[in-house]
Amino acid sequence: PRVIFSGIQPTGIPHLGNYLGALRNWVDLQNASLHTTDELYFSIVGYHAITMPQQPSRLLSERSEMMATLLAIGLDPQRCTIFHQDQVSEHTELAWILNCITSFGKLQRMTTWKSKLATAKNVSETSDIDDKDLSLGLFAYPVLQAADILLYKATHVPVGEDQIQHLELSRDLADVYNRKFSKKFFPLPQHIITPTKRVLSLRDPASKMSKSAPDANSRILITDTPVEVERKIKKAVTDAERSLAYDGVARPGVSNLLSILAALKAASVAGKQAEKQMGPQEWAERLNREIEASGASSGQHLKATLTEAVVETLRPIQTELERLRGDPGYLKQMELLGKEKAQTVARRTMAQVRKSIGLN
Ligand code: ATP
Ligand code: MG
Repeated sequence: PRVIFSGIQPTGIPHLGNYLGALRNWVDLQNASLHTTDELYFSIVGYHAITMPQQPSRLLSERSEMMATLLAIGLDPQRCTIFHQDQVSEHTELAWILNCITSFGKLQRMTTWKSKLATAKNVSETSDIDDKDLSLGLFAYPVLQAADILLYKATHVPVGEDQIQHLELSRDLADVYNRKFSKKFFPLPQHIITPTKRVLSLRDPASKMSKSAPDANSRILITDTPVEVERKIKKAVTDAERSLAYDGVARPGVSNLLSILAALKAASVAGKQAEKQMGPQEWAERLNREIEASGASSGQHLKATLTEAVVETLRPIQTELERLRGDPGYLKQMELLGKEKAQTVARRTMAQVRKSIGLN
């Protein structure tokens, strides 16, 4: 049986990239595991959030919002262990032990670190924030991530493309640990990637859609109203070509919108069967035919079609989220359930780890 683990930071409301690249995949995995003995762990990773400065009261509310969101998208707390990482202290304990078998050089090669460093260096030319202000915690972030995964002896990790390198580090650390201390103790975790592994920023298709990017118009949040969705998609960067085509290199903006459209249609409950099979290029062709018939501009037609698909996908999630927000007692109860389930496994692993490394 598989052990599936994944996490999301409580750094804001999830956007379409999180949803299509990660969260929706979690729900699919849950549903596919119905008649199996697969174990699923989904974690809200507060210890990762604090690797960048967070305002405490805000972090606290983002944490519980994220719990409500995970339930609203369809994760079932009876079938999965849905929990706050920061309520299970074994995560930091295993992270420390793994820190001690991770070389500095390995972490310096992590691209997320390199890009945070580059951003900080750019900013430091114009402000007093300096790259030297980046924390040790941010540097060691991938090790904490390895600890998250290994604590549950996970075999599979569904993530977006930005996390593949970190997952390689997790495999590497599992292997180093096994060879040093205890043969075959940790399985080497594999990644599971969705077709929409990298949703791009609406305002800058050179970078990924991100919760923490400064421009709020660069992402569609799963709580955005139809009016907000329409406004953000209208502002999305496209180009002036007369017809649509899927070409990620020459036309990243248009291609990003086409991929999002195809991904949403593929999963649409109300959608037609034939539309579920259509890829982004087929959507380009379909929309081109409609444009020829109606005389509308290609960008406008794409944006209108996408707006409708986004609104239709978000509607049921938002209704459920509203309902859950009105029931804080239930949310607390689910939090406790997740914490207890996670803790049982985490404690077992750590007892074995301490013994193997000579700390007991
Ligand atoms: P932050 O900017 O705070 O890092 P984020 O948007 O990157 O936020 P995370 O909580 O770091 O979100 O990541 C949660 C999951 O969403 C991860 O599996 C990650 O790979 C995935 N993910 C994040 N952004 C995208 C994206 N643009 N496209 C596809 N998947 C994504
Ligand atoms: Mg991220």
